[in-house]
Amino acid sequence: MMTNNKLLIGTNLKMYKNIRETVSYLTDLQEVTADLCDDLLLFVIPSYTALPASSAAVDQARIRLGAQNMNWEENGQFTGEISPLMLQELDLKIVEIGHSERRHTFRETDIEENRKVVSAINHGFIALLCVGETGDEKELGVGDERLRQQLKIGLHGLNEADCKSLWVAYEPVWAIGVNGVPASSGYADAKHRVIREALLQIFPHEGHNVPILYGGSVNSGNACELISQPAIDGLFIGRSAWVASEFNALIREVLPVWQHKVHETSNREKRTL
Ligand code: PEP
Repeated sequence: MMTNNKLLIGTNLKMYKNIRETVSYLTDLQEVTADLCDDLLLFVIPSYTALPASSAAVDQARIRLGAQNMNWEENGQFTGEISPLMLQELDLKIVEIGHSERRHTFRETDIEENRKVVSAINHGFIALLCVGETGDEKELGVGDERLRQQLKIGLHGLNEADCKSLWVAYEPVWAIGVNGVPASSGYADAKHRVIREALLQIFPHEGHNVPILYGGSVNSGNACELISQPAIDGLFIGRSAWVASEFNALIREVLPVWQHKVHETSNREKRTL
């Protein structure tokens, strides 16, 4: 996998931390995880206003930085929007696209997410596309179709080579945030398999290389079980990651479980060769 067997784990800070709080958080996180830098692909997605200071404060070989959203156009009459050229000035690695709050609170469509994904990759970023079914879609039994639709539309127009710049996060809408109910590890694993199948339909050669992260009420009580699932390649965390020492503790619990899984998988692959 493109992450070279490093644990892919990160957080979106949403609209919570100001510039000072973000820099202090990042500085702490970089310090407490320093000894793990060879084992982790750690990323943090701060608010726009904190990005310049964040980019100055961290070594992105240790903590990759991303933006929470992006307009697909380079410039124009789009008051309040941020363009890929503006994000390029900040030396960011990742652009998060289609978070559930963008889709549901701000009514973004699959087609708009697609324009953003294409533009982000064309401008040299990793596009982190978030997908997930709502509670109603789950109850009505159309969750898998919804995931396939979000992927087919969201990734339209990309080619196999673009897979190296693509991460997908499975974030069931009903599992996210303060009112979220965490998905069971079995349920999350099954949905990751649906996503993998869809990726392989779209990209038969490179689809297996796109990491699929789970997000939605991950916490220290469920993170290890989630990461031990065969189809879960990483974790995308909100609330449980926003205090550096707590995020560090969670990472240290998850890492050996992840390493064990990678080891077992490579042994199994060797045995079948
Ligand atoms: C999120 O908002 O993407 C998220 C995963 O949040 P939380 O972990 O707080 O549910």
